[in-house]
Amino acid sequence: MRDWLAHRADATPTAPAVHGVDGTTTTYAALDERVEEVAGRLAGLGVGVDDHVGVVCETGPSFVDLVHATMRVGAVLVPLNARLTVAELTERVDRADLSTLVTDAEAAERAVPAAESNEVPVVSLDEDAGTRDLLGVSPETYDLPALTPNDVQVMLFTSGTTGTPKAVALTATNLAVSAGASAFRLGVLPEDRWYDPLPMYHMGGLAPVYRSVLYGTSVVVEGSGGGFDPERTVEAMHRTGATCTSLVPTMLRRILDTYDDDPFPDSFRFVLLGGAKAPRTLLRDCLERDVPVAPTYGMTETSSQIATATPREAREAVGTVGNPLVFTDVTIVDEDHRPVGTDETGEIVVSGPTVTAGYYGDVASTRESFCTHGFRTGDVGYRDENGRLFVLNRADDRIVTGGENVDPGDVLDVLRNHPMVSDAAVLGLPDEEWGERVAALVVGDVAEDELLEFLDGRLAGFKKPKTVVFTDELPRTASGTVDREAARELLEAAPAHE
Ligand code: ATP
Ligand code: MG
Repeated sequence: MRDWLAHRADATPTAPAVHGVDGTTTTYAALDERVEEVAGRLAGLGVGVDDHVGVVCETGPSFVDLVHATMRVGAVLVPLNARLTVAELTERVDRADLSTLVTDAEAAERAVPAAESNEVPVVSLDEDAGTRDLLGVSPETYDLPALTPNDVQVMLFTSGTTGTPKAVALTATNLAVSAGASAFRLGVLPEDRWYDPLPMYHMGGLAPVYRSVLYGTSVVVEGSGGGFDPERTVEAMHRTGATCTSLVPTMLRRILDTYDDDPFPDSFRFVLLGGAKAPRTLLRDCLERDVPVAPTYGMTETSSQIATATPREAREAVGTVGNPLVFTDVTIVDEDHRPVGTDETGEIVVSGPTVTAGYYGDVASTRESFCTHGFRTGDVGYRDENGRLFVLNRADDRIVTGGENVDPGDVLDVLRNHPMVSDAAVLGLPDEEWGERVAALVVGDVAEDELLEFLDGRLAGFKKPKTVVFTDELPRTASGTVDREAARELLEAAPAHE
């Protein structure tokens, strides 16, 4: 098995591979040449089979080069969040057993000390980054590795919503089956251009790179510098003739708030919407404006999508993430890991060829994550009589207050129904009297008294938040999930009331 880009460049050399938002296009033949050079330089650095190559870079065309170049020399790609602090990067570099770290001008200040304290050689994609630059490394010849389907291709850290991010090892089979199954659900057209505004150090941003090389389609790479800008993104989608994209709910919300009607190009087939639960108001807005939205549920440990609803299914059953993808089995289980019936709620357990073999260097967490039915997602949901999956919340989000169970999703739904509330997060805080108390972080222009009055009669007394804090924006991880630790800190600083 050769690397996927080599196969692709042989098959369709003149097809577009990568579009920059500036209008530049790189064909597969040109990408192959560029990657051959990067692979040679990696070999010049001593990188070879099974070596772990860390990447702390802004998303962009050079990131795509590294994805393919590492596969070409038989190394494992380890993308790291480019926004991390020196201390966080130092810990990740150590835990991932890197043999080389690649950074850029933007991140060098933090990445270089993290690499050096671990005695890991570091190079920069940019000159003048205060460290050796990759272009200055003389390319060397290398033996083509014997790639097998079970080789680990990438090690990706989870988003860290529930604690310290875990390093997920994904094989060639994991990634290829995931890409194939996605195509099976959403279809592929030769002219597809996947607009990719998500960071490539997360599954949602990286997956389109693997998909496009397998499909022979192209990816439009935005680059993550400067944060998300709805107008810039929508303009670039039109300019580059994008046909699909992946967005997290907060991005789509901001796009819809910036424009009237359907802001996406006529060429658009779907917006793959995932990473976090999509609020019903957002899904309804999409329906009203004819935005072709494909809600998906996925995670790093399953190489992205577990279930995806086509735009048609999303119209038929608002709130569903659709049926599991082909080859993926989803079982809903109770607390004793026994399967439950239709419409019954329980933990979502996943099995199939997209599921990771485990967390790197963490046998204990890996073992804990599997039960007889497969990988335990830690998420709660149910399946309807058509097998469609609905995701409710994370299992450990459940609040127990005065002996009563509270599903934060119930409280959230009611809060979001207030016309002046645009967003909210609900979680449990430790409480001397109640064990836990319900706390809400709210984005909205409304007085606390008025909001609490609104909740009277709509929510049982024990479900009513005993702590309410207003904020301009919810703290979020790069994948769009609410950063629960940051939310907790904001809420803990506030007093409780009766
Ligand atoms: P960590 O595992 O480090 O706590 P994380 O779980 O947020 O972080 P990811 O793998 O990026 O890291 O995210 C996967 C999670 O995102 C899922 O387990 C689920 O909780 C949430 N998620 C993704 N899509 C959806 C969706 N459509 N509806 C509800 N939740 C979703
Ligand atoms: Mg997780």
